[in-house]
Amino acid sequence: MICLDFFPVSHWLFFLAVQTGHSQSQSLPRPKLVVGLMVDQMRWDYLYRFYDRFGSGGFKRVFNEGFTSENTFIPYAQTLTAAGHTTVYTGTTPAIHGIVGNEWYDKALGRSVYCTEDNTVVTIGGSEKAAPQSPRNMWVTTICDELKLATNFRSKVIGIAIKDRGGILPVGHSADAAYWYDSKSGNWVTSTYYMNALPEWVNKFNGRKIVDSLYKQNWNTLYPIDTYVQSTKDDQVWEGKFGHETSPVFPHELNSQIGKNYGTISSTPYGNTMAFAFARQAVEAEKMGADAITDFLALSLSSPDYVGHQFGPNSIEVEDTYLRLDRELAAFFSYLDQKVGKGQYLFFLTADHAVAHNPNFMGNHKFPAKYIDRNGQADFAKKVNENFKVNNLILDFQNYHIYLNDRVIDSAGLKKSEVKKYLIDLLNKDENLFGCVRQ
Ligand SMILES: [Zn+2]
Repeated sequence: MICLDFFPVSHWLFFLAVQTGHSQSQSLPRPKLVVGLMVDQMRWDYLYRFYDRFGSGGFKRVFNEGFTSENTFIPYAQTLTAAGHTTVYTGTTPAIHGIVGNEWYDKALGRSVYCTEDNTVVTIGGSEKAAPQSPRNMWVTTICDELKLATNFRSKVIGIAIKDRGGILPVGHSADAAYWYDSKSGNWVTSTYYMNALPEWVNKFNGRKIVDSLYKQNWNTLYPIDTYVQSTKDDQVWEGKFGHETSPVFPHELNSQIGKNYGTISSTPYGNTMAFAFARQAVEAEKMGADAITDFLALSLSSPDYVGHQFGPNSIEVEDTYLRLDRELAAFFSYLDQKVGKGQYLFFLTADHAVAHNPNFMGNHKFPAKYIDRNGQADFAKKVNENFKVNNLILDFQNYHIYLNDRVIDSAGLKKSEVKKYLIDLLNKDENLFGCVRQ
């Protein structure tokens, strides 16, 4: 078993389609607004695992009025947030679009880079130390860029996510804006890549600090906790607790965090509540879907990923997050029905990647699974160096990628293909790895 996020997933898409009846109209039927919803770390089977407890206006509405495309397969690695968002929105693989991980080792710079880092721009609206971001590391266009080109840039395109990369990458290079959440200041922010100052509606939204009013509600289960029969019971060793808690159990007290901790919201379902509220404000203030020129709102919900990492995919916390998300989705559809018009918008839902069960959970149920000891990387590098009688043959390990030191290979007169073959053979001999290591 590798790490949590690394779980091969066929990208699945879930559509609520625009009405196509256009009778005598001469123009082609086009949606006024496309809403792409990426649910970070959502496993496709959650649609079925939690189905019985969903209401009629959320996920079930998409089942009933739309369609599900369950075998839309783009095979690639690594299935991490940045690569997943980019792959879905560009329709191509990391080798082509360039976003091979959340971070990677850049041989030219001789250091690790973050997927959306860009030191030529400045963050707007956040804490001073917030690292500046843009989509410049992405090499190709996204579907949002193509929409911009198709309408001669008359479409409005906005990306929104708590995670910077989730907001930035889907909307591509030509977006009007991407906004993400700065956990230090509790503000929604952007960068000078898009604009020179936050719009007034964003300042107003930030001024409301809805994070505080959400903390006031604390986080208890939506239904009595003993009715969560699809989940492992609370308080397992692999569950992580919030910094201010003594144990990782319901009810999660959040009230004490008001005014002093803006980060914890991301690991609760209220992160989704906040993102939906911000998205509505964007639709409202930017008049998205208000005319016949198709606009695109790319919304990515980061909180399901944070909750999944902290508590594990079989936790009550995850089930509760999805039951609440179902309600939020229903409310968002009602809002779009009223604002844009029923049948006037195209909605799709998918995920950037899935998640594997926790190895302890697997072991408890007799499934084969192990943790990989990351300290083993040093031993691995040592073994490789000893075999070829050189030093520093491996530059870095990042996101399960191994970066070879070309200079050492050249100066030692080694053949790169032989080094690669040795590494692959060595990895394939490791009983902790599933035997599929390739060049
Ligand atoms: Zn993700």
